Amino acid sequence: RWAAARCSAAGGRVAAASAGPILRELQRRCAAPLPVLRHVADAMAADMRAGLAGDGAGDLKMILSYVDSLPTGNEKGLFYALDLGGTNFRVLRVQLGGKDQRVVDTEFEQVSIPQELMYGTTEELFDFIASGLASFVAKESEKFHPLEGRKREIGFTFSFPVKQTSIDSGILIKWTKGFAVSGTAGKDVVACLTEAMKRQGLDMRVSALVNDTVGTLAGARYWDDDVMVAVILGTGTNACYIERMDAIPKLQGLQTGSGKTIINTEWGAFSTGLPLTEFDKDMDNESINPGEQIFEKTISGMYLGEIVRRVLLKMADVSALFGESVPDQLSVPFTLRTPDLCAMQNDSSDGLKEVGLILNDVVGVKKSSLEARKTVIEVCDTIVKRGGRLAGAGIVGILQKMEEDSKGLIFGKRTVVAMDGGLYEHYPQYRNYLKDAVAELLGDEDSKHVVIEHTKDGSGIGAALLAAANSKYRER
Ligand code: BGC
Ligand code: MG
Repeated sequence: RWAAARCSAAGGRVAAASAGPILRELQRRCAAPLPVLRHVADAMAADMRAGLAGDGAGDLKMILSYVDSLPTGNEKGLFYALDLGGTNFRVLRVQLGGKDQRVVDTEFEQVSIPQELMYGTTEELFDFIASGLASFVAKESEKFHPLEGRKREIGFTFSFPVKQTSIDSGILIKWTKGFAVSGTAGKDVVACLTEAMKRQGLDMRVSALVNDTVGTLAGARYWDDDVMVAVILGTGTNACYIERMDAIPKLQGLQTGSGKTIINTEWGAFSTGLPLTEFDKDMDNESINPGEQIFEKTISGMYLGEIVRRVLLKMADVSALFGESVPDQLSVPFTLRTPDLCAMQNDSSDGLKEVGLILNDVVGVKKSSLEARKTVIEVCDTIVKRGGRLAGAGIVGILQKMEEDSKGLIFGKRTVVAMDGGLYEHYPQYRNYLKDAVAELLGDEDSKHVVIEHTKDGSGIGAALLAAANSKYRER
């Protein structure tokens, strides 16, 4: 390898060289102090406006969800949900009992998506999903009550940017999060699913197609009327919120129902004013979607581990962080994952033994000094802190936009941000950095009203609720 060759030509790494300067430079470049956060929040709000105007000026697509009525609690009947996200695929059924009973019964199954399907064909992916759904439906017990003469209805949570054409149809704009399935972009994903279900002999109807943020918002709103925003921080990232239809110029006066709708921002594509480094730029250049999803690549779970790996590789190469040679595994993209960072950062053992073990197991570092382990933790912390703080700024950007349009309506009262995703759920440092940034930006008075609520797996129930609200059989 190039690094190894250069090293032997130079006669071995000098073990005494310190990674300190690289670390300090990294910290300097990743810093997100209050003025940077303010700038990011302002830019997010401005990009939202541009996206709503539809003038193509900002990075945000601001996609119409076609959800114009939120769950009320009155929904009744058996509904299914199917969730295709980053790493997993979930199916769920729920028996809704209306106002007093709410969720009578629910069951779900989760399957991890085989890697090869992420690079396969559209048919292969959708056949896999439909067959998982078929075997799940086959296990429906008497606890659940499908209605005679009606097809079973599904809410389809599809966690990628889709240009919705109605509540139950939409065209995939592009894949994200490492998916590179051929032939899907430009197609109606509901049609893809419906055809695959037919091939499985499954006669169900997709009644709602929703982004995972939209499902999360609907699911959280079912229990709490103050939910206005939903954010996903997992493998990928995104946010949606409730908008007034008369504040959406690209709707050109078109109004329905309540006069409100959910907008899927697709904020993963945001890129203004972010403190980026050479490591981010290299990762982006070598990614399968260069130049795209820059916010996502800076703050979400799929990428934090990879950024850290790149920093450690440079430290190993230039300043002999792990001794004279650079372990081969450290050069393999995406070997270090965000859960590894989290485990290392939360190591409270003597001599950071856990850090040593992870470095050994995951990136092949045979021996690491205590000094090196501490440096590794500092690198993790730097990248995670930047991610959490920028995510917090994004959230405040959305609240700011909502507040500007409805003076006092947002900050004057309790406002709930429903949050889901493994990164937020499992990484305490990330979570705290995010909350700190939100509090710094909002100040004491306003942050009293803003509640960030973790609503685990709300998007499944949310999609089922939206299927119910948009049921083909609903009485109007
Ligand atoms: C997708 C969004 C999705 C988010 C979280 C992003 O990569 O573009 O549609 O909501 O991931 O799953
Ligand atoms: Mg998900």
